[in-house]
Amino acid sequence: MSLHLDTPLLRSTSLSQLTGADIWLKMDALQPSGSFKLRGMGLAAQRAKASGARRLVSSSGGNAGLAVAWAGRALELPVTIVVPSRTPEAMRRAIAAEGATVLVHGEVWDDAHEHAQTLEGALIHPFDHPDVWAGHASLIHEVAAAGLRPDVLVVSVGGGGLLVGLMQGVYELGWTDTRVLAVETEGADSFARAVEAGHPVTRPSIDSVALTLGAKRVADEAFAWSQRHPILPVRVTDRAAVDACRSFLDDHRVLVEPACGASLSLVYGRDPRLQGRVLVVVCGGASASLEQLTDWREATSGSR
Ligand SMILES: *Cc1c(COP(=O)(O)O)cnc(C)c1O
Repeated sequence: MSLHLDTPLLRSTSLSQLTGADIWLKMDALQPSGSFKLRGMGLAAQRAKASGARRLVSSSGGNAGLAVAWAGRALELPVTIVVPSRTPEAMRRAIAAEGATVLVHGEVWDDAHEHAQTLEGALIHPFDHPDVWAGHASLIHEVAAAGLRPDVLVVSVGGGGLLVGLMQGVYELGWTDTRVLAVETEGADSFARAVEAGHPVTRPSIDSVALTLGAKRVADEAFAWSQRHPILPVRVTDRAAVDACRSFLDDHRVLVEPACGASLSLVYGRDPRLQGRVLVVVCGGASASLEQLTDWREATSGSR
């Protein structure tokens, strides 16, 4: 049994009318941990337990850490999450509420990750592991089981774990002509930069409200997929990502993070590449709240 839910797949009347395309939404914001991350983290945690792990460890102060904490509680395994000091208090509380021990180490994710590697237990990587990709691939299999074969796939990219998992699912089904739009905010465009450079590159810093997309370097496997399949990198502004969160809340009454708003902003911007049956992965995000949305809007006002 998987730990994640088979989430609703909705055809959006309003967004289809707006774009002239057939817009389908895979509602992973409705996973119990608030994001698609439970797919990959859940499977990785199950496999770790099956191979004898007595404790789970993770280094993410974001949706991955929350998903590992959720999985650990469901599997009755103790969990330690090492977070950097930048991790917001609300997220630390949410992780602790799942019963996990939260340790603070360093200022940024790299510091926390280094410390997590020294701890006892199975380390669950937030995006760069085959078990994580296999778990994320389930999203595409659910879409296929629901009878939809999309022409276009719209997906947000941080470290690229979701992209890799979805591409695996797409190829397992033989959907090799699917057009893929890989969306990032401008200040977190590690994937676009890698594709343009022709090799994975390390971005000097992350400068975006979409913290969840803030991997300085994408997984090598995400770059490798860009060499195997036409995956078009798309950059959007923070402002567009935040505005899309707000519009989506009005249209579908679900609140998501700017990491997810980035993908939705292609819909609200009526991107001409949205043609035919379009699957938008509504990846979610547990750090979103009404107050946060207001702060994000203020932080991005004045920009476009
Ligand atoms: C983690 C995350 C992403 C990016 O996923 P990667 O596997 O790191 O590319 C996008 N949106 C949300 C809400 C996330 O939690």
